[in-house]
Amino acid sequence: MQLYQNQKLKLYNSITGNKELFEPINEGYVGMYVCGPTVYNYVHLGNCRTFISFDLVFRYLKHLGYKVRYVRNITDAGHLENDADAGEDRIAKKARLEQIEPMEVVQRYTVDFHNTLARFNNLPPSIEPTATGHIIEQIDIIKDILDKGFAYEINGSVYFDVIKFNTTTKYGKLSGRNIEDLIHNTRELDGQTDKKNPQDFALWKKAEPQHIMRWPSPWSDGFPGWHLECTAMSTKYLGEKFDIHGGGMDLKFPHHECEIAQAEACNGHTPVNYWMHANMLTLNGKKMAKSTGNNILPNEIFTGDNDILSKPFSPAVVRFFILQAHYRSVLDFSNDALLASEKGFNRLMEAIHLLDELRVSPQTSGTDTASWRQKCYDAMNDDFNSPVLIAHLFDMVKYINQVKEGKASISEADLTLVKDTIHAFVFDVLGLVDVSASQEDSTDKLSGVVELLIRLRAEARANKDFATSDKIRDELAEMGIQLKDGKEGTTFSVS
Ligand code: AMP
Ligand code: ZN
Repeated sequence: MQLYQNQKLKLYNSITGNKELFEPINEGYVGMYVCGPTVYNYVHLGNCRTFISFDLVFRYLKHLGYKVRYVRNITDAGHLENDADAGEDRIAKKARLEQIEPMEVVQRYTVDFHNTLARFNNLPPSIEPTATGHIIEQIDIIKDILDKGFAYEINGSVYFDVIKFNTTTKYGKLSGRNIEDLIHNTRELDGQTDKKNPQDFALWKKAEPQHIMRWPSPWSDGFPGWHLECTAMSTKYLGEKFDIHGGGMDLKFPHHECEIAQAEACNGHTPVNYWMHANMLTLNGKKMAKSTGNNILPNEIFTGDNDILSKPFSPAVVRFFILQAHYRSVLDFSNDALLASEKGFNRLMEAIHLLDELRVSPQTSGTDTASWRQKCYDAMNDDFNSPVLIAHLFDMVKYINQVKEGKASISEADLTLVKDTIHAFVFDVLGLVDVSASQEDSTDKLSGVVELLIRLRAEARANKDFATSDKIRDELAEMGIQLKDGKEGTTFSVS
């Protein structure tokens, strides 16, 4: 029997405001879509928090035995400044400022995004589609919405008719906004006169002559609206109705609200069963954001190269810091908080190392390991409550230390259960990495590389290519790796 059948996973559904029992559309399978980054800048730690939160969800669902199709897009066109329908395309703007191709911008920051998430030990999604790779699908959806009468074309652009849609299906269900308030509160940011109503949003925009990222369509040479790409890609890979849609809290309105309207206009039903929103990471009490400059980059944390830090912190410690908060709580970043997380992380890893050294006794005294294990599951089943899970793990850390000190005992069977449970939750579910183990691993790799260079140098010398052999020796020396030639061959030392 699959583990998921024994566990009652509940998750907080943002659209109902309730914690609900998770029941997937197809038994044993989960379809999950998470809005990906707009790749026009380096990802900051706030962005990473959201993606780590959903990595936790992905990992736990997989741990429970579900077959998960996790789709996370790359926004490489259509996302304008201010999240409104006006202003420059964020990627095109960066390309103009740096005098490079828009696709160079996309490539540079997509690579950064992947490298950064890999350092945090995030699993890659199952499918990572791009907006520019799905223009045809987006055009098809616009045609469908036009056919159904919920959009209109003006001067080569197509807008979603929010007022008309609202006469048949309520607009604003997710964000709790109602159309009357929106009508009163919507400002026109750009003096945009094409729209019938200011709260309508663009499905297709005609490109101005200077706009480089453009595609042909029945309406004009132009580009799709930002909200449309997620509807197109989630529908294509997960179907008209799927299980989970996630993203940061700041995407609820207008982005997700518009996604719901588009899908309902096409299909006549809501696209998603469970909406999940991750809360914000703050710095100095304010939301971390690219636009305000109030942010810190992961690489600055790994190198310690930022004035607010007293030292560098490893990616695993930063991930642990993030998971010590529940994904729906606001989390404030600070040096002190990271120092505290580092202490806790080290204590956890030391206890894991101790597990291999503990002496077993005929009986366990002082704890009930089976109920402790269930408590770990109960924490995660309660809307992925990682801080409560971590608190339970620390209860066991305390017990492991007591056994080590001879103040408590553990049987062989219980020790096996504790080891399996801790490994599963710490490494598979929380996705933490044992830094000391990974350092050993990189030391092994370094030795392998240097030994390869030593062999290449010996070959160069045998061929009397002394220029190459000297170059290998000197450049390694510059990196602090000394080669020593002896009777037994060449050895190396690292200074
Ligand atoms: P963007 O590239 O701006 O579309 O953002 C990518 C993801 O990061 C979205 O899901 C945002 O909601 C999320 N995000 C942006 N700022 C923060 C923050 N300060 N804390 C947590 N998540 C954030
Ligand atoms: Zn999206």
